[in-house]
Amino acid sequence: MDRSARRLDGVGSTIFAEMSALAVRTGAINLGQGFPDVSGPAAVVDVAVHAMRAGRNQYPPGHGAPELLDAVRRHQRRHYGIELEPAQVVVTTGATEAIAAAMLGLVDPGDEVVVLEPFYDSYRAMIQFAGGVRRPVTLRAPLFRLERADLEAAISPRTRLILLNTPHNPTGTVLGRAELQAVADLAIAHDLVVVTDEVYEHLTFDDHEHVPLATLPGMSERTLTISSSGKTFSFTGWKIGWATGPVDLVAAVEGAKNWLSYASGAPFQPAIAAALDDHEDFYVALRKELAERRDLLCTGLSRLDVDVNVCEGTYFITTDVRRMGLPDGLAFCQHLAERAGVVAIPAQVFYDDPDEGRHLVRWAFCKERAVLEEGLSRLNRL
Ligand code: PMP
Ligand code: GLN
Repeated sequence: MDRSARRLDGVGSTIFAEMSALAVRTGAINLGQGFPDVSGPAAVVDVAVHAMRAGRNQYPPGHGAPELLDAVRRHQRRHYGIELEPAQVVVTTGATEAIAAAMLGLVDPGDEVVVLEPFYDSYRAMIQFAGGVRRPVTLRAPLFRLERADLEAAISPRTRLILLNTPHNPTGTVLGRAELQAVADLAIAHDLVVVTDEVYEHLTFDDHEHVPLATLPGMSERTLTISSSGKTFSFTGWKIGWATGPVDLVAAVEGAKNWLSYASGAPFQPAIAAALDDHEDFYVALRKELAERRDLLCTGLSRLDVDVNVCEGTYFITTDVRRMGLPDGLAFCQHLAERAGVVAIPAQVFYDDPDEGRHLVRWAFCKERAVLEEGLSRLNRL
């Protein structure tokens, strides 16, 4: 007997946890779940330890610790020229809670949410929990670009908002100015809110530049921007995220978030404030290292019989594995874990129609060089 509520139907468990469990069970190298195998700056850990010793162990303000709110505002000003009032920032339990609270706070039952596909898996769950209807816009393989016509076709009179993600997980696409302008034009023409998940804002490569949608003319008043310290500072387990934007959109996020976690991460919030203010060098170096590891993994994977799309940002590469003899990415990943001792993520779970991404597999390269090299040599022996 299934005693769970209908809102859980079809949501399943997260593929990231499933594949990490498979890696543990099979002793495989984990190139699946996106977390780095080295922690962020030691000096930032020291700030958290100090905060704990200094007694910052009770509920922080629901809105966020004052120094973190200020540091996020300074970060947005310094990098993007975005000026924010204190009420235009809210701290959340990772970007995950910001996404959840945005969907619960902004989407009514029956509203349509236009979302880039393949989509990060929590989007599916949270649109469903809010009673929303997903309207995917597919970034088509092999290049995974956003086509204006596809976006336009997905918008209807029932559209409540567009849920964007750039740099994009899992494809690694960084939306360019023309693509963002298309989003802006359509959002303005149809008077839509855009929620944009920018957790990989600092992880772009070569000459690809992350442009926040909120910086385009006419967009600051209709864009809720979500980010997080997890990827930028390699503290994915601390779960400190934030949402910024117009006061009413931020208030809607806070209105829902108050009833989710209310508040979390008291000692981590001042630590991330210090990271944002004083440790820009960390992500500048991380970006450079990741670009090298991306090249290592791309080169290694191209020696196998897979088609590699070199990513522009994030720490993921998506490949077409059809020529390797197992056209179904899910079966391929099972086989890989058991036979080669390497775990990757089948991208089909990020599609409404799994056939669209049946042949796609995502590989994470936020791992130490030796781990990537060992993974590649295992794959070569397959
Ligand atoms: N959005 C995307 C696109 C992600 O890849 C992730 C994973 N970092 C998240 C949101 C969740 O972020 P957090 O760990 O801060 O909750
Ligand atoms: N964002 C990470 C990824 O895409 C996973 C986060 C999670 O496990 N929920 O791999």
